[in-house]
Amino acid sequence: MFHTKKSLGQNFLEDSQILNKIIETASLKSSDIVLEIGPGQGTLTTKILEKAKKVIAIEKDDRLINFLENKFNKEIKEGGLEIIHSDILKFDHEEYFKDSQYQIIANIPYYITGKFLKKFLSSNSQPTKMVLMLQKEVAQRIIGESKDPKKNKESILSISIKVYGIPKYIRTIPARYFEPQPKVDSAIILIEKISKRFFEEIDEESFFLLIKKAFSSKRKTLVNNLDYLPKNDLIKVFKKLNLSPKIRAENLSIEDWKNLYFELIPFPKN
Ligand code: SAH
Repeated sequence: MFHTKKSLGQNFLEDSQILNKIIETASLKSSDIVLEIGPGQGTLTTKILEKAKKVIAIEKDDRLINFLENKFNKEIKEGGLEIIHSDILKFDHEEYFKDSQYQIIANIPYYITGKFLKKFLSSNSQPTKMVLMLQKEVAQRIIGESKDPKKNKESILSISIKVYGIPKYIRTIPARYFEPQPKVDSAIILIEKISKRFFEEIDEESFFLLIKKAFSSKRKTLVNNLDYLPKNDLIKVFKKLNLSPKIRAENLSIEDWKNLYFELIPFPKN
C-alpha cells in the first residue's frame, strides 16, 4: 500500500462520478493540451487521456514517478503523456508552453493554492482555462456563496482572480470522497476566459499596490486606507464615481476598481 504524505497534500480521488464531473467541466476537445498538477496515482490523468490530445503531468513525489511511468507506459511511448518529476512552483511553464496553448486540470495540493494561482494567472504564458479542486472555503472566498452578487464580499484573492478570468463555482465535494479523508470539504471551480486584457491600460504592479493598500486595515473604510490624495480630494473622487465615502474595500466591484485606478494612479504619491 502507498503511504500518503500529508506534507505533500496527498488526498487522492477515486470516485469516478466526481472525476467525470471534473472532465465534463473542462469540456475537452481532442486537440487540447492539458497540464495536470499532482497526478498522484493517475486516476484523473486516465480520464483526461481519454479526451485530450496530450497531457503533461507534473508530480513532485519521487515515489510516484516510477508508479506512473509503469501505469502509463503505453501512453508515454505513444506521446500522449509526459510525466515530469518537478515541483510545479519551480517548473518553467513559460518556456515549456511558449509555442502552444494549454489548459490546466488538477486536484491540486491545497498548501500551494495561493502561489499556484498567482504563478499561472499573472504569467506571460497563461492557460486558457483552469478546472481545479480547491478547499471549499477558498472556492467560496473566490466566487462567493450567495446568489445575490451584492452580498458577496470581495477580497484580495477574489480580485486577483477576477482581473484575469471568470471564476465559476461548479460543485461542493465532501471530504469523504478523498482518500485519505482531509479535514475540510472541497469544491470544483472553473476559471474561464483567462487573459491579460484587464491590464492593457492598467499597470499590473500599481494596480495590486492599490488593492493591497485598500485592504490593509480591515476595520477602516476605504477612504481611510488610501493615501494617494488628501482625504477631501479622495472623497470628491468617490462622489464622482458614485461610491459612498463610507464604503469598504470588500464592497467594490472589479469595474469600481478600474475606475478608481484611473482616478488615482495619474497622481501617485511618491
Ligand atoms: N490528482 C491526484 C492526486 C491529488 S493529491 C488525485 O486526484 O487523486 C495532490 C498531488 O500533488 C499528490 O500527488 C502530491 O504528491 C502532488 N504534489 C504535492 N506538492 C506538489 C508540488 N509542489 N508540485 C507538484 N506536485 C505536487
